[in-house]
Amino acid sequence: MPPAETPAPTLATAQAVVIGAGPAGLMAAEALAARGVQVDVYDAMPSVGRKFLMAGKGGMNLTHAEPEPAFLGRYGTRADRIAPLLAEFGPQALRDWVHALGIDTFVGSSGRVFPTDMKAAPLLRAWLHRLRESGVRFHMRHRWLGWTEASDGETVLRFATPQGETAVAAQAVVLALGGASWARLGSDAAWVPLLAARGVDVAPLKPTNCGFDADWSEVFRTRFAGEPLKSVAIAVTTADGQELYRQGEFVVSATGIEGSLVYALSAPIRDLLEHTDAATIRLDLAPGLSAERVAAEVCRPRGARSLSSHLQSRLGITGVKAALLRECLPKETMHDTEALAAAIKALPLRLLRARPIDEVISTAGGVTFESMSKDLMLGALPGVFCAGEMLDWEAPTGGYLLTACFASGRVAGAGAADFLAGWAARKSGAQAPLPLTMASATASATSMPSIAAE
Ligand SMILES: Cc1cc2nc3c(=O)[nH]c(=O)nc-3n(C[C@H](O)[C@H](O)[C@H](O)COP(=O)(O)OP(=O)(O)OC[C@H]3O[C@@H](n4cnc5c(N)ncnc54)[C@H](O)[C@@H]3O)c2cc1C
Repeated sequence: MPPAETPAPTLATAQAVVIGAGPAGLMAAEALAARGVQVDVYDAMPSVGRKFLMAGKGGMNLTHAEPEPAFLGRYGTRADRIAPLLAEFGPQALRDWVHALGIDTFVGSSGRVFPTDMKAAPLLRAWLHRLRESGVRFHMRHRWLGWTEASDGETVLRFATPQGETAVAAQAVVLALGGASWARLGSDAAWVPLLAARGVDVAPLKPTNCGFDADWSEVFRTRFAGEPLKSVAIAVTTADGQELYRQGEFVVSATGIEGSLVYALSAPIRDLLEHTDAATIRLDLAPGLSAERVAAEVCRPRGARSLSSHLQSRLGITGVKAALLRECLPKETMHDTEALAAAIKALPLRLLRARPIDEVISTAGGVTFESMSKDLMLGALPGVFCAGEMLDWEAPTGGYLLTACFASGRVAGAGAADFLAGWAARKSGAQAPLPLTMASATASATSMPSIAAE
């Protein structure tokens, strides 16, 4: 237990508190309000949903239209934990919900689902309007600092506000505090030590959907940073020996590589880098052609033509693709036709490290599913629920992130409503006794018991 903190100067009471006004927290608030619960939403930022709005900048990819088994598979080793959440509020339910807000969606050629105007702001505006109409109250510029003991012995929530510190006694709490990237939009992971100090198991937060650094030469960096590589594939041998091969697009950056194909493979590459100083991936610069065909084309006599124009005319390898060959291969290999042909299909590229966590799209790690009940209540803190990216799961881009954030928010909100109903029933003596923690909180409470955080 952390040392006792100074009691806060003011004390407000609330029935249900949601901390974090991103997609997961707002969905939890909606689920609570739908059950007639008075909800107070707190957030450190001056306005809600900043990362959600940022996600809308490049085209808000809400979810994906692929069949359920493939969709679930995107959550990797956490698929069995995410499945029950999606059973409550899956991709189709999400699309129906968006339509009910007056926003149309469309399915892109890749199966990704977007709002028709690709933006997040109209959706968020309509949603906030509906939340306010249903009585949800918002308290911005309230940074949650953890728990403290009020003067009557209750365990209450502490917030820092521009007017000073304040405290809130709540019967149920949903934490939806986000991951550890883009701290300037609000999710700074300051919650990790607060929960860990209360005995909650938190898996280390790690970058995912991220770029990687490579050791580019100055010449290559200056000439090719920002160049897209289209129609390429990346092959990776995972830490447990699995062979992965994905086709797509990525971009050469000033420090290495980034973009959708790299993000899709970022979890296994990151895991490799945990065990070694560098991870070698293999680039297929001609994914539409077999190794035999590439070898045949490279070995064809080229007469007086330079190697560059030979590769360009026979295989379409030019620009950044040709430069990558020169960047990654020893000079002598460029003149060994067989070795060159093999390298065009599997060009080794050493990656040194993942990009810093603050700049990545999302983070892996977080509150472990083992530390929560099915409805996402913390075993160590009865009455406290968690949702969104702060939970220990990860998924590639493609709408899978937001879908799981919405779904977990829905489940946590409904769980908190059930908890409150159970508490009310127990209070009227109709059911089993309170959990020990709640019992000790109610014993010292005058009117409304705080959430038991001990
Ligand atoms: C550039 C970018 C593009 C993206 N594009 C997509 C996309 O197209 N599709 C997709 O599925 N996903 C996308 N994502 C990921 C997606 O936006 C996140 O996974 C999602 O927003 C997480 O939702 P959340 O509610 O769990 O957390 P967040 O949206 O991070 O919200 C957490 C909230 O908690 C608040 N908070 C944190 N700590 C405290 C505290 N101590 N006290 C009070 N408040 C606190 C924060 O201010 C914030 O408002 C993108 C992410 C980025 C960065």
